[in-house]
Amino acid sequence: MAALSAGEGTERLRRILAVEQQRGCEDRAVMGGLDRLLSNLLAQQPRGETPVLSVVQTLGRHRYAELGEAERRAWIERALRLLATPAPADSARQAQDQPRAATAARPLPAPAAAASPITSTAQRAVAAAPAERRPERAAEPPAGRTRQRAKPAASGPTLDSPVTAIPGVGANRAEVLARLDVLTVRDLLYHFPHRHDDFSRIARVADLQVGETQTVVARVWSASLVSFGQSPRKSTELIVGDETGNLRVVFFNNPYPASSLRTNQRLTLSGKIGVFHGQKQLENPEWEIVEQGGDLDQAIHTGRLVPVYPLTQGIQNRALRGYVRRALDLCLEQIEDPLPAELLRRHAYEALPLAIRQAHYPDSAEALEAARRRLAYDELLTLQLAVVARKARRAASVQTAPLPFAGTLRLRFLAGLPFPLTSAQDRAVERILADLERETPMARLLQGDVGSGKTVVAAAALLAAVANQRQAVLMAPTEILAEQHFRTLCRLLDADAGEGEPLAEARPDWLARPLRLGLLRGGLRARAKRDVQDAIAAGEVDIAVGTQALIQQAVGFARLGLTIVDEQHRFGVLQRSALTEKGENTHLLVMTATPIPRTLALSLYGDLDVCVIDEMPPGRKPVKTRMLEPQQRDFAYRFIRDQVGRGFQAFVICPLVEESETLEVRAATEEYERLCKEVFPDLRVSLLHGRMAPSEKDAVMAGFRDREADILVSTAVVEVGIDISAATLILIEGAERFGLAQLHQFRGRVGRGGEQSYCLLLSDSPSQEARARLKLLEQTHDGFKLAEEDLKLRGPGDYFGTRQSGLPTLRQARLTDTPILEAAREDALELVAADPLLSAPELAGLRARVERLADRAGDAN
Ligand code: ADP
Ligand code: MG
Repeated sequence: MAALSAGEGTERLRRILAVEQQRGCEDRAVMGGLDRLLSNLLAQQPRGETPVLSVVQTLGRHRYAELGEAERRAWIERALRLLATPAPADSARQAQDQPRAATAARPLPAPAAAASPITSTAQRAVAAAPAERRPERAAEPPAGRTRQRAKPAASGPTLDSPVTAIPGVGANRAEVLARLDVLTVRDLLYHFPHRHDDFSRIARVADLQVGETQTVVARVWSASLVSFGQSPRKSTELIVGDETGNLRVVFFNNPYPASSLRTNQRLTLSGKIGVFHGQKQLENPEWEIVEQGGDLDQAIHTGRLVPVYPLTQGIQNRALRGYVRRALDLCLEQIEDPLPAELLRRHAYEALPLAIRQAHYPDSAEALEAARRRLAYDELLTLQLAVVARKARRAASVQTAPLPFAGTLRLRFLAGLPFPLTSAQDRAVERILADLERETPMARLLQGDVGSGKTVVAAAALLAAVANQRQAVLMAPTEILAEQHFRTLCRLLDADAGEGEPLAEARPDWLARPLRLGLLRGGLRARAKRDVQDAIAAGEVDIAVGTQALIQQAVGFARLGLTIVDEQHRFGVLQRSALTEKGENTHLLVMTATPIPRTLALSLYGDLDVCVIDEMPPGRKPVKTRMLEPQQRDFAYRFIRDQVGRGFQAFVICPLVEESETLEVRAATEEYERLCKEVFPDLRVSLLHGRMAPSEKDAVMAGFRDREADILVSTAVVEVGIDISAATLILIEGAERFGLAQLHQFRGRVGRGGEQSYCLLLSDSPSQEARARLKLLEQTHDGFKLAEEDLKLRGPGDYFGTRQSGLPTLRQARLTDTPILEAAREDALELVAADPLLSAPELAGLRARVERLADRAGDAN
């Protein structure tokens, strides 16, 4: 295969991607698909031509063919940015030749637009034909992608220039920065520190306090290289001093300061003061040289609140601080404030450029917080505008069949229940049935703590669909739970399903025909599964129950009118969007037992209406919870024996083993054997774990439910909403390894009957912090409070799994920013109500941000 000449691969790929973009990202721009083209191109690349390599390395981790439409659009846009312009010198010439080139061509960057952020000087020269042309970084012209700028820079980098436009950032660094998603100067300005070190306390050498974090200004007396122990790298030892005394400074395994410092140079050094042989010393401090007569305000590593950035391998804070500082100095002026003047005034926020500067290099802790609040508001407003606008669009454009559940029918359903609804359930039913009577599809989130009785509320909605000759589907996160829902519904409707039968029939007196329920289970034989699927497709099944996976595999519904997703604690923002794509104009109800703090609910589910069941069915006693000391395990076992003696049942939850499920299963199996043989040889113990086949799990759970065992030893798989009314005790081993919200879910496994129930937490060597966490569980039964606590400790990423949290765009906003969030929500509602498309000129900046957000979220709207 002939190698392509320099630049050709880049150019060709750029053209193809442009075509692909124009054709709606259906992967039809090249025969055989983009993925194949990319690998061919790679094979043909002359070694030097990295733009294409960059695209593949930076973006090619996923196969294009497997991406969703929105993700494809975002992918292409980023790829085009990466491939965008050749050498700056070249583009300077072109910009002169063709003054309009820069303003043309959106969405495609003009051919001579911004230099690729990832190409080195040499590589850019390759990409731009005359290879000998060597770009002058400082002379880099404004980049091609035009936006109206308030103050166009006469020369020098712009916000959209690649990071290589910043003095000191070369190709290698650009590649490292790309891993932090920092491609342009703007990205750099928006790469905020995750904290600041407070080095603002400046002291003279004699006044330094051991154990304190302080800054000294001192001169270098001597700088030498030294070796410590076996370490192959040299260390630096400095003696510095001021008029009050001398100080030893050591940089372990770091020869760099020794080689770059000269005697008598003036330094600032910041760090924690330690002691060595009775003398004060500084170890691995931050430091910088102060020019003669220099101004300490210019310091970026010392003597102030110093930014500490999120990093990746290959870059350190020292370098990043310098880049950001230069970007601030060169480009901050160009930042446009997207907030309309009215909003700025309303909240008395400072101007955006000021906030950005303060977020990196704050004058004080107060200034930092003010800046953070301003930036958090921007983020939350953008997010809220996105969800509010989406909701408005949906309401305006999508129609569906209304599902009125006429009065008498509702009364009959309620009368048939074995218990009266709690008033919270009643309110939820009212709201949901009212939603269903509209032509705008319902989009509602039903929140209710474990055991608050969401299922019966769901049942009312399901029946509303059936009463209107529509099909309804109820999805559960696991097989066991799907089956439980199926049985519960059968019970509520007086339907009989033979043991293990996937189809059941009821004859409610309000329906002129039999009502059929279908359960889609993985354990079914292929034949039986197909029967159920066929019945669903033929419209013979009124209510289908199953796991999400199974329902999604199943063929279409004949006349689907309502989708209910019971996520329990499992959150699937992504699944939800897949789902709404499928049933775009059906009513949708999402149920969750995760007590989602309001901040998060509005952020993740801001386009849903929310109702909460904030009341437990009567007669529930709070589960008494106690954290035990490791030596109290015997006490726990006596307690279990005592409960079983009274005719109750107990769960024993084994520790979470994060490394692998296999190890976890092995540990649980060992624990089970130990309990069977040594501790409870006279009791009936059974075992449940994640490696069992679904049918096995079902059998174990069913056995426990039917009281064939006294004790169920289980891994975390048991945590979903299984209903065992005789279970009164749950013992959780290795409790410190679980999140609070998860422990709270476990606790919800007991106390489902009227009996006093107990939750015992065991932890082998709890840290102080773990202890405090577990204590909290003893004190509160409020799932919301526990979730807030979890979120504070672990952050939303860990809480929901980063990928699914849907929150990567929130850098400055915190979950505790409820007042800011609410202000942003109100402002968004107001803006969208007045101008649904945000088309007013003063909203252009906000609109652009909302669009960018939607692209990044890969959100198919
Ligand atoms: P969850 O919200 O966790 O899904 P469920 O719907 O499974 O809760 O209900 C938990 C238990 O409470 C079930 O056994 C259910 O029958 C019972 N229950 C629900 N509502 C009431 C009520 N209003 N009065 C008494 N018991 C109820
Ligand atoms: Mg439930």
